[in-house]
Amino acid sequence: MAEFDTDLFVIGGGSGGVRAARIAAGHGARVVIAEEYRMGGTCVIRGCVPKKLLVYASHIHQEIEDAAGFGWTIASATFDWPTLIANKDREIARLEAAYTANVEKAGARVVKTRAVFEDAHTLRLGTGETVRSKVVLIATGGAPNHGHAIPGIEHVISSNEVFHLKALPRRIVIQGGGYIALEFACIFAGFGSDVTLVYRGDNVLRGFDDDVRAHVRSEMEKDGITILTGCTVNKVDKHGREFTSHLSNGSSIASDQVMFAIGRHPNVAGLGLDKAGVAINPGNGGIAVDGFSKTSVPHVYAIGDVTHRINLTPVAIREGHAFADTVFGKRHVEVDHADIPTAVFCQPEVGTVGLTEAQARAKFSHVDIYKANFRPMKATMSGRDTRVLMKLVVDATIDRVVGCHIVGDAAAEMVQVLGIAIKMKATKADFDSTMALHPTAAEELVTMRTPSARYVREAAE
Ligand code: FAD
Ligand code: NDP
Repeated sequence: MAEFDTDLFVIGGGSGGVRAARIAAGHGARVVIAEEYRMGGTCVIRGCVPKKLLVYASHIHQEIEDAAGFGWTIASATFDWPTLIANKDREIARLEAAYTANVEKAGARVVKTRAVFEDAHTLRLGTGETVRSKVVLIATGGAPNHGHAIPGIEHVISSNEVFHLKALPRRIVIQGGGYIALEFACIFAGFGSDVTLVYRGDNVLRGFDDDVRAHVRSEMEKDGITILTGCTVNKVDKHGREFTSHLSNGSSIASDQVMFAIGRHPNVAGLGLDKAGVAINPGNGGIAVDGFSKTSVPHVYAIGDVTHRINLTPVAIREGHAFADTVFGKRHVEVDHADIPTAVFCQPEVGTVGLTEAQARAKFSHVDIYKANFRPMKATMSGRDTRVLMKLVVDATIDRVVGCHIVGDAAAEMVQVLGIAIKMKATKADFDSTMALHPTAAEELVTMRTPSARYVREAAE
């Protein structure tokens, strides 16, 4: 009897696991991949993809409003939430099937069940079957936090449920000030819901550049979203179909739905990690890994959100690919986690890559800031009260652009491309020597000539 049933067992059919399974199978490995819910994982089933489809849908409201200034008369438009959700579900089901088909086409065996460690080489499936594998990849992702068990927490939804609401809430309270809270606040506001965002800190998007945070908040407030800072939801009551959120500042808000988006935690519970001897990183609660995603057990690896490094789909995919190349492709690949472009798909969008102003000033002695804050051309005719922010952060000693931050339409698309320039260590002079493309918003990025601020830190005596 062969010592192992398979060369690689992947736990989790999400972004990272599927990529790793496909690439490893392509390198000739025998691969089994287990998925307990739906192939595609968080991103495809209840994350990036359905979220972006709702973002597109919610923007149409603004397009209709903006049309009048350009001469269009649009007979009163109506919106049907069940149609949107049904169409979204159809697209997600199509993608789920494609994920399964593609991984099978690559030669991997898909088992649609939960898998947990029996020992360091043995996985027990939900079917009762056990599989012994030479190498194991943990790619189990993460799940929404629900915070402290406040009274009435059972009435609160997370991003898992929000994609399946039967009706559009007329009023919604969302707790959180990060990616998901802002994205859904803007989605619901776009559909005309009355949105209240409750955030515990002093301003949303902690960790982002301070100018971005201030700009986003002001734009969201102009769009009619109520942002309450310095407080939390301490209790939720339900009366019939209505909810009352009681806040730490003593006030209360009535709504038709209450959602928490207060971070996510790695899916490690009940995996049998102790039986396998796989260690947790005490700093973040994720699986501890080295630069090659290897855990404390030499033949067990972990990638993606379960390691709680940078919880983004392209990162999970890159880590999965690098793992497969390293372990089965005879090519050592270490993922570079520096300068990862990221976007918050709120309205208007945030796109950012590299260092914030505060990070750059802490790191470099000479920092130049270039900033443009302007009314986009379209708004001059639509009459919409909105402004775009563009900001470049430069290490002035070597003239290198180390950060780029945009709030405005298509910020995510711009920052994806700017990420190449930042990765190539482009200088401000490189930006300046690039011809503008007119008329665009992005041309501001290559035409900002005068710093809006220069910071010089004197050397310590
Ligand atoms: P996942 O995609 O979570 O896959 C893990 C899989 O493992 C799941 O399918 C799970 O069911 C399965 N599983 C868990 N335990 C077991 C087990 N024991 N046995 C079998 N199967 C198991 N990122 C972006 O880059 N851009 C975005 O716009 C974006 N939007 C997001 C919006 C939302 C609402 C959310 C929640 C996340 C979003 N993300 C976004 C983050 C992104 O979805 C994750 O970073 C990404 O999905 C992580 O991939 P993964 O492979 O690590 O895990
Ligand atoms: P985030 O970490 O982005 O934000 C969590 C928010 O909840 C923060 O404002 C945080 O406050 C607040 N918070 C945390 N704990 C509590 C608590 N106990 N009570 C009240 N508030 C609390 O997490 P999300 O849930 O929004 O998203 C999870 C991750 O998924 C993101 O970090 C990102 O990696 C990924 N994602 C990416 C997207 C994209 O690429 N567009 C979209 C959606 C998700 P504080 O800042 O004070 O800590």
